[in-house]
This record gives sequence, C-alpha cells and structure tokens, in this order.
Amino acid sequence: MNVRPVMLFLCALVASCAANQESEFVTVPWQPANVGDAGTAARAYHDSGAYQRGLEVVANQAASWIKTHAPGAHQPALVLDIDETALSNWEIIVRDDFGRPIAGAADLASAGPWGWAAWDQLGRDPAIVPTLEVFRVARAANVTVFFITGRPESQRAATERNLRAVGFGGYAKLFMVPNGAHFASAVDFKTPVRIQIERLGYTIIANMGDQPSDLIGGHAERKFLLPDPFYRVP
Ligand SMILES: [Mg+2]
Repeated sequence: MNVRPVMLFLCALVASCAANQESEFVTVPWQPANVGDAGTAARAYHDSGAYQRGLEVVANQAASWIKTHAPGAHQPALVLDIDETALSNWEIIVRDDFGRPIAGAADLASAGPWGWAAWDQLGRDPAIVPTLEVFRVARAANVTVFFITGRPESQRAATERNLRAVGFGGYAKLFMVPNGAHFASAVDFKTPVRIQIERLGYTIIANMGDQPSDLIGGHAERKFLLPDPFYRVP
C-alpha cells in the first residue's frame, strides 16, 4: 500500500475539518488559555515523565555549577525553596485538581479536596530527587545549605521532620514566614532573607526554586528555576 496518498488525503481532511470548524463559531478573537485544558496538559506533563526529565535538566546544571564554583567561593551557600523544589506535593495537587485551598482537613481516607495547611502538617511529602542530588553535591563540596520557604512557622516541626526523613538532613537553617505575616509576593519575604544570609558572610552561589518569585530580587550568583506548571505563587 502506498502510504503517501493516504497521508495526503488525511492531511487534507484534517485541514478541511479544522477550517470548517473554525467557520462554525461566532466568537471573540482572543481569550485566556482554558483552565481545564491547562490541567489536562499539566497532568500529562507529569505522568509522561517529561516533568521528571525537566527537573533533571535544571538540577544537573545546578550541580555542575556548584561543583565548579564552590571551591573558589568564600563561605559558599546554596539556597533552596521547599515546595515543588525539595519536596513534592503531587499527591495533594492531583487530589485538589490543581486547586490550592489552604483551610480544611487533609483526611487521607476522604476523596478530598484536602486543605494545604493540614496537608503540610502531615509531613509526608517525598523528595524531589534531582534536587536531593543537588543537595548532596553541595554538602559534599562543603557548601552551606539554607531553605527559604513560604510555609509559616506553625509548620516548622512537620516540615523539618519531613525534610530530614527524605534525606535533606544537614542543612544549616530553615527560614519560614512568621505566623500571621502576609506578603504580597514571596519576593518581599525571600529577598531580605538572602540579604541576611549574605550579611552572615556567605556567598550564595546558587538559588533554586520552582517559582520566579523564589529567585527574583538578586542576591545569588546563579538562579535555577525548576519546571512547575501546576500552580503559581506570586
Ligand atoms: Mg516552591
């Protein structure tokens, strides 16, 4: 069977259908991306393995940078974000269908939705393994590791227990948002903390997060942004 004519016919059919479909609708010239479609695409991105490969691409570059630059830096430091950087919340992300309700229970026996604050208190997040590798490379190179998270102080015990349980023991300090404090952007909380770290004499050779707001504001020699199409932290 000659495949080429069949392919040409199918292409023509698809093009014709698309054209017909287009002309069927009276609609507006532009609207934002459809949230349902975005959710479907994000789930496929995760489940296909593309997300994992993306994490590895960025983390491998961070590890190489640290290996190369730690030896020549004065008191080298690595700054890491926590959620979707060091720890994965995929279980609640899919359970909440990409919503982010903060209040409410996280009763694992129920179908959900689960509340994120209660979820964080469970301390059951697995590690983002490519970031764990970066952490290990940093510690082996005598780089001091600081975590800066948007999680509140009320979650300190559960968060520190979670970090240690999955392999992140050996960090110097975890900076958390004071209870009751609110910041319009994570930049407003995280940048001053990095300045504080520098004032202790450290050189932040790398800052890694999953949100631009983890990285904007400077005070790091190189910034590494992991993929995260699942939610946005302003
Ligand atoms: Mg994060």
